[in-house]
Amino acid sequence: MNPVLAKEAITMIINYSYALSHPIYYQTHNNFDLYKKEQAAAAGTAVPGATDWHGNTADANGQYDYFTKAEIEKRYWDYVDGRTLYMAMVGGDAAWGGGPLASQYESNYVSGHWKGEMSLWSHEYSHHTGYNHDSNFANSGEGGGQQEMLTQFYKYLIYINDLPFIDPDILKTYSKTKYLNGTYTKPVFKIDPKNAFLVKYKGEGKWN
Ligand SMILES: [Zn+2]
Repeated sequence: MNPVLAKEAITMIINYSYALSHPIYYQTHNNFDLYKKEQAAAAGTAVPGATDWHGNTADANGQYDYFTKAEIEKRYWDYVDGRTLYMAMVGGDAAWGGGPLASQYESNYVSGHWKGEMSLWSHEYSHHTGYNHDSNFANSGEGGGQQEMLTQFYKYLIYINDLPFIDPDILKTYSKTKYLNGTYTKPVFKIDPKNAFLVKYKGEGKWN
């Protein structure tokens, strides 16, 4: 990483850590079955696919290896604590997560995370935590699991101004062209009025 992208990685991981530690994230993680129902109601659809968190066993015709509530609680703490993580910059191949490493594309460091686009990061972080593509911790299909929920939640935190770093102009990375491969403009944040957290919390729930 160069110094400009290293600063972005630091702002992103502090924001991400804050989001995972947030009481609303904890509440939603541990009641993911309820979130799935609320999300479907906000979108006006039935709950698609898995109705709660499940593990790495391949789905056999809608039979998921669902975790118990006690396991879900334990997995929350496994998810947020206790490991070393090295953040990397994708060097030309695909983004990757596993073991102590998770990587992200330049565009997501420079622009995506300021707009709450954290799906890819969340996917790689779930690999780093030990989930594979059969688990809805690292599977964006079937109505979404961790990737979709975390992204919606992250956008809601930006919307209520409840992340440590909200304004891309504190770094102005998008303008530091000699350190970047891509070309960028200032990231502009928008929230979908059907965001399940916006529908539920209506601007409330700030942690600090
Ligand atoms: Zn993957």
